[in-house]
Amino acid sequence: MSDNEVEITMPEGEVEPDLRPPRVADASKLVEVADSVWILPDHERTPHVPNVGIVVGSRSALVVESGMGIENGRRVLAIARELAGDKPLFLTASHFHPEHGLGAQAFVGEATSILNRSQRDELFEKCRTYVDLFSTFTPAIAAALDGVDFVRPDIVYDGAASLDLGDRVVHLREHGDGHTRGDQLVILPAERVVFAGDLVEERFFAILPDADADGEIWIRRLQELEGLDPEVVVPGHGTAGGAHLATAARESLEGIRDRAIELRAAGQEEDEVVATVKAEQIDLYPDWGNQEWIAPAVRSFLARTQ
Ligand SMILES: [Zn+2]
Repeated sequence: MSDNEVEITMPEGEVEPDLRPPRVADASKLVEVADSVWILPDHERTPHVPNVGIVVGSRSALVVESGMGIENGRRVLAIARELAGDKPLFLTASHFHPEHGLGAQAFVGEATSILNRSQRDELFEKCRTYVDLFSTFTPAIAAALDGVDFVRPDIVYDGAASLDLGDRVVHLREHGDGHTRGDQLVILPAERVVFAGDLVEERFFAILPDADADGEIWIRRLQELEGLDPEVVVPGHGTAGGAHLATAARESLEGIRDRAIELRAAGQEEDEVVATVKAEQIDLYPDWGNQEWIAPAVRSFLARTQ
């Protein structure tokens, strides 16, 4: 892995650490959201456990997200093998964050990995910094990330790519510069299923984790996603649902942006703006997690509109 310096944004406020191990769920939790399109759900909203997708065609299958670390990768691989038998496997990830893509080592020699170029580049540039930081969060996360290293993808594409899995086609699309530079959508056009990664999180406030995250572009990316008119949106974390998940994520971000700019223009100091917007968002979305990420989102919007 590269050891380029990346400055990661930290959440603001008291955060009670969730000590549950970041382990992907077992096969008994699989949910079939369309014919032979499976989700291994984030397992009771456990932090750092993403929704994993497994799409099975007549000739091959695609795994979306490996889970975090080698052991989770092995578990995902075993479940994919249960569903797909000995069909060839493809592996991709929605973005480079450790819980989404850093179980890829377990798939070496077992699957053909494919990533959009912007995600590959960002992974190479930032993953060591993210792994080192995540390893300080809890001992269980440190254990999950032990021995993790960057895996060079077998196939890299620019813009968009299609995978014909046999009797079903999957579109991969670069959709970046919102949550991360390398955000990727995985779209099943016939089934109208979209794997959105962390661009959409169900009942969580948006995380703008470093200076490459851009709330304004993120809002546009969500509008484009809504324009696909999906029947099922699989969020990075939380429960899958309809297009309304993307709409809710967009409306929260728009609310943060609009109120931040309005209050700043009315003469409030930045910390006052942060406190007001945070209180308003918690009022609007009382059951959403990641409240500690509202303040960094406000500051990011203010920094970009000055
Ligand atoms: Zn993420």
